[in-house]
Amino acid sequence: MSMTMRTVSVLLLAPLAACATVPAATTSAPSADLAANPSAGMQYLYGSGEGAAISVQAWHALLGYVAAKVKARPADSVVLEEGATLDAPKFEPCGDRPFAAVFDVDETVMLNTGYEYHAARTGQGWNEADWGAWEKTGEGAVGPVPGADHVLAALRKLGVTVIFNTNRSVANADATARAIKAAGLGDAVHGQTLYLSGDDAMGSRKDGRRWTISGKYCVIAMGGDQLGDFSDLFNAGQPVSARRAATMQLPIAGLWGNGWFVLPNPVYGSGLKGGFDDVFPMDRRWAPPAAGGGK
Ligand SMILES: [Mg+2]
Repeated sequence: MSMTMRTVSVLLLAPLAACATVPAATTSAPSADLAANPSAGMQYLYGSGEGAAISVQAWHALLGYVAAKVKARPADSVVLEEGATLDAPKFEPCGDRPFAAVFDVDETVMLNTGYEYHAARTGQGWNEADWGAWEKTGEGAVGPVPGADHVLAALRKLGVTVIFNTNRSVANADATARAIKAAGLGDAVHGQTLYLSGDDAMGSRKDGRRWTISGKYCVIAMGGDQLGDFSDLFNAGQPVSARRAATMQLPIAGLWGNGWFVLPNPVYGSGLKGGFDDVFPMDRRWAPPAAGGGK
């Protein structure tokens, strides 16, 4: 066993309970007319053991995968190249470029606990003004997604450059780097290891930034809580059911847990869509037999 693998084994066994703590929000007692409890999604993501465990599980899988790839030196990165399709994916060749892993930030490596507290307490949905203020001032009320802080540190020890590709605004680059640091996730340098919305002309679409990163690095793993963190091709306006089917169809299906790693987010984002006909197919419907019926 090489030193590298020994290091990985030790890190995999390291107690994740040592994750940086999330600072308490500095807010007075809630008033009585507000919701008694946060939403189910918030309970799961920010409060539950199940939510923490599934996150740690994803991070452990990612670390094991990356450790193996560092030894194997893959020919291709896990970034889809320009012109690729989901039916016929082609990947950026690696050449001899150094290794990197690319991660979304919000609810992938960092929990926006303070912002979601505000959203839950006020009952307001997401709004641009509050989110912008949060990007600028939230560094005291963030924490790592469980497992992310340990595993990002382990990736760096393996010689893999950790790069953040987020749709936070380029105008708030410095504050976002401070928040990443405050969450225990290490350093992020704009233009080197931090890419933001506004870095190019593609807005919130991340493919262009992925291609820029791929020009400098062999990207051996990506992590995200939204499918757009892997490819913009998932956000071409497909119906809910078609989008889901695209994730389950080979060869794309083979990437989950093998280069592409998904973190849970039941609180917001592109996964929270669909009416009854989207969510419950006609051939999977059931109702209890009417009283006296079926006997
Ligand atoms: Mg995210």
